[in-house]
Amino acid sequence: MADCARTGMEAGKNGRERFLVPPQTPLCSLGALTAGVFGILSRKVSTLGVRKESSWRIGADAGFDCRDDGGLFVLKGAILVSNAMWLYPNVDMHRTEKQAKLHRFLEEHEVEKVIAHFRADAVFDGKPLDRHWIDVLENLDAKGWEVHGMINTLSSIPDSFRSDGYRDLYTVDIHGVSCFDEPIAGRRQFLDPNHPQVQDYVCRSTAAILQKVPFLRGIQLDFIRYYYGHSRIHMDTKQMWHNLRLAKGQEPVVFGRPGEGTVTYYPVRETIVTHDPPVGGPMEFVHDYRYCFCPRCTQSFAREHDLTLPTGDKTDIGQWILAHAEDAWYDFRERTLAALIRAIRQSIQDVDSTHQLSITHWYNAPYGNELLGQPLEDESERIRFGQAWWKWANEGLIDFLCPMNYWLQPDSFLDVLKTQKARLHHSVPQYAGLLTSRDYAISEAELPRYKEAAAEAGFRGLCFFHYGTWNR
Ligand SMILES: [Zn+2]
Repeated sequence: MADCARTGMEAGKNGRERFLVPPQTPLCSLGALTAGVFGILSRKVSTLGVRKESSWRIGADAGFDCRDDGGLFVLKGAILVSNAMWLYPNVDMHRTEKQAKLHRFLEEHEVEKVIAHFRADAVFDGKPLDRHWIDVLENLDAKGWEVHGMINTLSSIPDSFRSDGYRDLYTVDIHGVSCFDEPIAGRRQFLDPNHPQVQDYVCRSTAAILQKVPFLRGIQLDFIRYYYGHSRIHMDTKQMWHNLRLAKGQEPVVFGRPGEGTVTYYPVRETIVTHDPPVGGPMEFVHDYRYCFCPRCTQSFAREHDLTLPTGDKTDIGQWILAHAEDAWYDFRERTLAALIRAIRQSIQDVDSTHQLSITHWYNAPYGNELLGQPLEDESERIRFGQAWWKWANEGLIDFLCPMNYWLQPDSFLDVLKTQKARLHHSVPQYAGLLTSRDYAISEAELPRYKEAAAEAGFRGLCFFHYGTWNR
């Protein structure tokens, strides 16, 4: 019955699952399970024949209905509570003591799925996998953890794409700036999901990872989104003195450091109090990171919707689309990503039909809920990032989801999770991404509140994120 935890899940009413337990399960064990209404029972469940790390949560509507069903008892309403963790390679993690530490972390935190980072770009370019990294993951698989490969889908750039002949593969923002020429923050680049060569790259590299590492259960797509950011600078030029002549005139300004790249900011407001003497006022510059307004995307969008785009510079075209066909434009981007996901799913299941596909998704305010006072905005995932993840999951393209619900307090974390859970028409496991960082740490004492929030919202569990969470 070792596979009970994986094979026993079935969609149930109210978004809950039925969980099959072996007929030899002592009744006292079932009684103990049912006693935990709205509690989390973290127990050694070897008597139930499932992984000892498993926890159970019994909802108030569980009904405690145990009956014989084809040789197995069915405990209605029981939810297996387990967590996931993103894992990144680190130079010494193959050492025995480090692996023991990793295993302890996974056991103590009831982690079921380990989502391990792979470089799709390196695989695509034919570079060998790190043997130490594969050994670490193989060891996890041998000990019963479910290991998935994860890639930075659209931000993983093969070296072979870095020459000028490939610039069409890169996304272009609403100012007409390609991230090929001006990487975001001087270093981030995103490929265009609407380009056939990008689609081919992602499909080939995901299949290749699964062929090279056959124990992986599937692929998780991180960065399966358009980049979004509204970057704004306010300047006080009151005492800029004679240098004011360099700031005025509605010209863009360029920020950057030698060797680290530059970004261009576009003026939206300029105030000159007096020219002689030179006394300035507030100035404001923006860079809107909204994608993808490359000619291929805007023209195929216009064709699909029978629109005539203005002839003008690239900025005019982008602004015209948002002013005249904004919602259709968001749909176009969502469909573009959905088509890519569909192709990837086909590609990985061609390798093995049991391979799973999962994604991470973002929303407007993981940075902002607490720190900037911005709650989750309705459909911000679709509008800003092109991620209509609920449509993809409801269509059956996604086997489980890891929303990145970062920098939140437990109460607002729960609110976001409830909204995300309500979007699904059927039960697709969700693992709530939880970030701990140096500036926004979560203590071991606070962690149970996040776990309880995940359970209360009907999530399968948490997904721990920090490059070295386990290694502290
Ligand atoms: Zn494009």
